[in-house]
Amino acid sequence: MWCSYCGSNKHNYALCPKTWGGSSARANLWCSYCGKRDHDINACPKTWDGSAARAWDEDSVSDHFVKDRQR
Ligand SMILES: [Zn+2]
Ligand SMILES: [Zn+2]
Repeated sequence: MWCSYCGSNKHNYALCPKTWGGSSARANLWCSYCGKRDHDINACPKTWDGSAARAWDEDSVSDHFVKDRQR
């Protein structure tokens, strides 16, 4: 995962907090499965699909969760 806008490796361009699109994408993240706001259902750690995607192919769901919120 790498942000082509600010160079961070904690998020990608689609979720860059320094771009309008990225910060609004983060604000709109909401998981319809568990209700958390740091991911959506595609990256929900409580679903088999979501946890598998995050474990094995994190880049495939990098638009679907915020990784660098807890610092
Ligand atoms: Zn960035
Ligand atoms: Zn969830």
